[in-house]
Amino acid sequence: MRIGQRLGIGFGIILLLMIGMTLFVSLSLNKIEKIQKIAIINSGNTEAIDDLKDHVERWLIAVEYILTKRDISQLDYHAILETSVWKELNKINWNVYDATVISLRDEIIQSYNRIEKLDSTVQMYLRLGDKVPETINIDDTVNSFEEETFFFKKAIANLDTIVNTTYNQVLINSKKIEKRSWFSIYIVVPVTIGFSIFYAFVTTRSITNPLKLLCAATIKIINGSFDVKLNIKSLHEIEALLNSFNIMSLKLNESYKRLETLSIIDKLTGLYNRRFFDEALEREALRSKRLRHSLSLMFIDIDKFKHFNDTYGHTEGDAVLQQLGLLIKEQVRNVIDIPCRYGGEEFTIILPETKSYAAFNIANRILNNFRNIKFHIPTKDVIVQKTISIGVAELVPSLDAKTTLVNADKAMYEAKKLGGNRVYEYRA
Ligand code: GH3
Ligand code: MG
Ligand code: MG
Repeated sequence: MRIGQRLGIGFGIILLLMIGMTLFVSLSLNKIEKIQKIAIINSGNTEAIDDLKDHVERWLIAVEYILTKRDISQLDYHAILETSVWKELNKINWNVYDATVISLRDEIIQSYNRIEKLDSTVQMYLRLGDKVPETINIDDTVNSFEEETFFFKKAIANLDTIVNTTYNQVLINSKKIEKRSWFSIYIVVPVTIGFSIFYAFVTTRSITNPLKLLCAATIKIINGSFDVKLNIKSLHEIEALLNSFNIMSLKLNESYKRLETLSIIDKLTGLYNRRFFDEALEREALRSKRLRHSLSLMFIDIDKFKHFNDTYGHTEGDAVLQQLGLLIKEQVRNVIDIPCRYGGEEFTIILPETKSYAAFNIANRILNNFRNIKFHIPTKDVIVQKTISIGVAELVPSLDAKTTLVNADKAMYEAKKLGGNRVYEYRA
């Protein structure tokens, strides 16, 4: 995953949580506003219904009194009529209730209208007194009135119940919204904060951890150890950086090895070079003295090599040098002995833990093997054989390494003086 993607996902999640919370809070506020409106209207309706019930009660008692007792007291009835039941009914706001309440409203209004019609009979009673026409049956009117008022009162009682239920509903709903709002404060807010902190921590770690390791690896390279590889799962760009770093350290390592090899190996023969020989000689001489081991040196020179080169050419001369190099490598102990191309057509061998006589024997083995090699010269189509001269000297406690090498060289010259193609052991 890319760094941008990782950060994007984090911010995206936080943004979603915040948008969600804002939406939730604004929705809650909206609901609270609606509930408040319902509560205000409903409480107004409660008052109106109480008044309505009061008026209805007084109105009905008066009418019933007039109709049943036939006792007409005009003053009382008019006092009641002043406070109109209809006026109170109109005070009720029906908008906050559902459809079932609307049908109840219609029932109440129709019932009221019917009662009002019966009321006109009462009005007539009041106006005419005993002169009420025979056609109007007062008993029937009384019965109808009783039935209708019973129905009317029941409908108003139902309305009262609904208004109370609405009040309870408002309470329940506001409690619910309150609970949800606390949930959003106590759960969503800490979750958002917690997530933000956790995500920032994880993202930062996934960047800083590999960088720390990269830093340590760079220091390793500065200190000369190029063999460092970083295998860490991380973000895309960091992995790409580590990958490039790995390639860089690998290449550095390879070129360093090549450089090291080039600086100590002779290119033509594959033996150690003069530089390496000088260091190895000092080191091995010190070691043999410390451990009281013997150490011998061999100095090898090809006989009349200039003539060979002049006759057959430099390329053929190189082939002879390579053959001699191979032979020397074969004849000495791997890892223990140190064979070198000292320069030109001269070779030296350091033989640790080797006495002079043993070195003498090895030298003879090399000498015999070499002179048996047949060099085919294609340009002249001849077979040529070459010889070498070898000087052997042992490191004695009283002498240093350089003097021993001079002694081996002297011994080699002694061999040349005697006609070459031989081994000469140095004697003090
Ligand atoms: P001697 O028997 O006294 O050793 O005589 P020599 O001719 O071998 O000795 P000299 O020192 O006069 O000549 C050494 C020759 O070795 C000179 C040069 O032609 C040859 N030589 C030195 N280095 C190389 C090389 O790298 N390749 C080739 N082909 N020849 C080399
Ligand atoms: Mg020479
Ligand atoms: Mg020579």
